[in-house]
Amino acid sequence: MVGLVLDAISKSFGAVRAVTEVSLTLPDGKLVCFLGPSGCGKTTLLRLIAGLETPSAGRVLLDGEDITDLAAHRRGVGMVFQSLALFPHLTVAENIAYGLRIQGAGNDEQRRRADELLELVRLPGLRDRHISQLSGGQRQRVATARALALEPRLFLLDEPLSALDAKLREEMQLELTLLQHRLAITTIVVTHDQREAMTMSDLVVVMAEGRVQQYGPPLEIYRNPANRFVADFIGTSNLLDAMVEENGAVSVEGQTIRVARLPPDAAPGAKVTVSVRPEDVHLRPGALDGDNRLAGTVTFVRDVGASVETYVACAGATIVSHAAPKDRPAVSQGDAATVELPRTACVVLMA
Ligand code: ATP
Repeated sequence: MVGLVLDAISKSFGAVRAVTEVSLTLPDGKLVCFLGPSGCGKTTLLRLIAGLETPSAGRVLLDGEDITDLAAHRRGVGMVFQSLALFPHLTVAENIAYGLRIQGAGNDEQRRRADELLELVRLPGLRDRHISQLSGGQRQRVATARALALEPRLFLLDEPLSALDAKLREEMQLELTLLQHRLAITTIVVTHDQREAMTMSDLVVVMAEGRVQQYGPPLEIYRNPANRFVADFIGTSNLLDAMVEENGAVSVEGQTIRVARLPPDAAPGAKVTVSVRPEDVHLRPGALDGDNRLAGTVTFVRDVGASVETYVACAGATIVSHAAPKDRPAVSQGDAATVELPRTACVVLMA
């Protein structure tokens, strides 16, 4: 069941530390996204796994075998690059069968496998087209088919959908996910798009500055971010400066906020951050008093169709509440309003 193990992997380029002591176990057959902002080291980590970079320290193990020093072409890795890197002078089928040809497969074998893969990526009938005659989505599918042609042990994709427009991108996210479920090949997708990671992954690795910030199922990360960076990067979050009180609650600008739990190392007086998702914030008209309530003024109301977003200036910050249109709060810009932060929705993070 053990798939890919990264054991304290680091990579420096001169003085730049691209990846620092990353240790992860990626279970066999799962789809894992490496997610993080530009420059956080996710492509470098993928290239270390592919064998396209050599680590400065640490080991890569696949199914128990140490592959750290194994050449890229012997690792059984199929890769889709951000640029797709298709061969423009070859046809679709020739692109897909390229690896087979290099390995010495006969023409019949190449043809049979290319047709099989064209079926798999839903491009039957396009085998003799040239790459320049394909749409962006079709090119993406050809790159996927080419990467899968040699039945890889690992399927690695570096920002595979970044060149596509938003709608097609969402379609392809679903298509790639369903394909991965069918094939059950251990798959890693590099992305900076948190929505993409949430949609596609069994597990997400959130990275910043070359280090893993959190690793887990997407909903777990969304619901229980490990730190302020993760809370801010994954979805939208209201982040409030707070202080731990004696009684196990926290205070925000002097107002008591009762919380379900505190971090183990949060002693009374410690500065912390309270993270609350906008969909968990309840909004009431008028200025109301009481625990877990912050009174303020509505600064902006935005109806984006699927939800109504209301911004309230209170407690030295702006708190945003998202509500379904049917639950639209009866407030307008300039009105007094109170935000209620449910106890169980308040995640306390070390500041
Ligand atoms: P992006 O989303 O922009 O591609 P990334 O998270 O994939 O970013 P990497 O490409 O892994 O980040 O880069 C991590 C750091 O390592 C960056 O500071 C980058 O400039 C540096 N870096 C990457 N490759 C090289 C290289 N070949 N030589 C020198 N520095 C490099």
